[in-house]
Amino acid sequence: MYWMYAMIGLALVGLYYFQNNDQTRQVDWTEFEKAALAGDVEKISVDMSNAQAYGFLTEAGAKKLKFDMQPGFEGQKKIETTIPSPDKISDKIEGWNNALVAQGKPTIKVSFEKGSDLMRIFWAFGPILLIFLGWYFISKRMSGGGAGGGIFNVGKSKATVFDKGNGTNVTFKDVAGLAEAKVEIEEIVEFLKNPQRYTELGAKIPKGALLVGPPGTGKTLLAKAVAGEANVPFLSISGSDFVEMFVGVGAARVRDLFKQAKEKAPCIVFIDEIDAVGRARGKNPSMGGNDERENTLNQMLVQMDGFGTNNGVIILAATNRADMLDKALLRPGRFDRQIYVDLPELTDRMEIFNVHLRNIKVSSAIDIEQLARQTQGFSGADIANVCNEAALIAARNNKNQVEWNDFMGAIDRIVGGLEKRSRIITDEEKFSIATHEAGHATVTWMLQYGNPLVKVTIVPRGRALGAAWYAPEARQIIPTQALLDTMCGLLGGRAAEDVFTGQIGTGASDDLERCTKMARSLVMMYGMSPKIPNINFNDSSGQEYGFTKPYSEQTAELIDSEVSRIVNEQYERAKQILRSYAAQHNQIRDLLIKNEVIYHDDVKKILGPRQWKSRTDEIMELNRKEETKIADEFKSEHPALPSSGGQSSDTGSDDDGTPPPFNK
Ligand code: ATP
Repeated sequence: MYWMYAMIGLALVGLYYFQNNDQTRQVDWTEFEKAALAGDVEKISVDMSNAQAYGFLTEAGAKKLKFDMQPGFEGQKKIETTIPSPDKISDKIEGWNNALVAQGKPTIKVSFEKGSDLMRIFWAFGPILLIFLGWYFISKRMSGGGAGGGIFNVGKSKATVFDKGNGTNVTFKDVAGLAEAKVEIEEIVEFLKNPQRYTELGAKIPKGALLVGPPGTGKTLLAKAVAGEANVPFLSISGSDFVEMFVGVGAARVRDLFKQAKEKAPCIVFIDEIDAVGRARGKNPSMGGNDERENTLNQMLVQMDGFGTNNGVIILAATNRADMLDKALLRPGRFDRQIYVDLPELTDRMEIFNVHLRNIKVSSAIDIEQLARQTQGFSGADIANVCNEAALIAARNNKNQVEWNDFMGAIDRIVGGLEKRSRIITDEEKFSIATHEAGHATVTWMLQYGNPLVKVTIVPRGRALGAAWYAPEARQIIPTQALLDTMCGLLGGRAAEDVFTGQIGTGASDDLERCTKMARSLVMMYGMSPKIPNINFNDSSGQEYGFTKPYSEQTAELIDSEVSRIVNEQYERAKQILRSYAAQHNQIRDLLIKNEVIYHDDVKKILGPRQWKSRTDEIMELNRKEETKIADEFKSEHPALPSSGGQSSDTGSDDDGTPPPFNK
């Protein structure tokens, strides 16, 4: 496009100069004849087809006729006139030449030209053509330059169509884990292939299914696999493709999409990131309502379950934010099924590693089970990233296969960001960072619900100057004490600075933020504070209270005082623990300053085994056994996997039954 613009611009500039260099003046026939007879014209060029004559002036002639003789205005100076009769012009010029000879002046040279038809056509139609070209380019740009472009196609849907036998090259085999979601999705494909099986019993074919889950868990991948495997046409579009700057375009595109789908039925339509159009409609349209988006949504509601029927069209949609979607969109009859695609469990993670390590040259000592254990809380996309990052690290170190350390480096990098060893840190700062991190480690170790520690580091990574990494326990319901313990652990860093250096620093702001938020949720969401018990001031739908607070000023004060009380109590508790274990804390701090990174086992040597072998630990022990059993079953079903028991992880697994992934 830019080349085109540049060329048009250049042509215009060229034309401008071409026109301006030659100074031409239109004169009438009498004046032309007068100039010729006065000897001011040295050459005449006659354009026969145009009946025009051009008289090229001598210098004296140009001066006499007051042409601009400035140095900047060089070029030919000529006069132009329409000739009375092309047949008789040569006789006329001959007459002038005779008269000039008689006066002793030089004669006029003559040339006859036919004139280029092309040039004439260009001059006649060029400007109109330019206008049309400009309009065409602008309209193309407005329609996003998309396929079929043009301003008239702006209301056409931009769905990518995968026809029968022409799907994506992703299959269900590429989607690891997600067993339940896969079953549901495969059933949808089945509905389209064998509808009679269901309709014979009187069942209605579902109209749509919504894939909901955190980012990177494989929703789009699942849909791609459907496109690859379903033997029906598959139309894929993203929610934001409906949005355009013109009013009414979104609705027109929805209509067009469904029209296209009906023509191709039976088929599947996939709308990715449907929250771009499906967000709940506002109650008060004048208050920040978005008419265009709401019109688009209304059109979608009508198309999905309106008067017209869509036999044989199944809509799949994906979103991270099902809570934000309009209730009408979610009701049965539109999206009959909601399929939750959750973060992968241990065995799912093993499968995902297996899929992504297929094309990577890994050392045979890599234990996939250990890798999966190290990556609790990771999504499929994170795991894909770990594999790729590990391969990049190995390549950077000129290895010919990817080893365990590369995977560990990749996981650390993904969780904590890039190591910044080059950041300049003074000895004093290093001491206070080590005191802070050792504080977290010591306090957490001593708490009943403290998450098992994996490692502590004072190497700066990303924005953090140091970090203590824990293996979070997978809890569905969190008791009050667990929240308090977590807060106490978070405050352990600041408390250590306070107790051991007598001077607190800005490094704890992130911990304080998390701790304060937790205390506020404890009071306002979970109703756990004894002074305001069993009341939830939170509005999860985000629609009830608007600008007003659902509590009085007195309650607001009470909430504030409760939050401060809880935080202060935990802070004092952290300080108490640190004072009791001051020697051990200092040992951990010194080891950290010496080694920069210390692991679970180092802390265990200093602080001894954790005193809390709580019920949670026992449950976790059981869970761990169960997980190992599942993992063993998985391995026996997939003999291609490298055997376990190879190299063990740096971070080691906990003897009190802890899966050791990372969480800051
Ligand atoms: P978002 O909601 O952010 O769009 P998503 O759930 O649609 O995320 P995908 O685009 O499907 O996520 O996944 C991103 C990448 O993560 C995939 O291309 C794939 O490499 C990897 N991935 C995610 N889940 C899986 C899985 N279950 N099996 C294999 N690879 C996976």
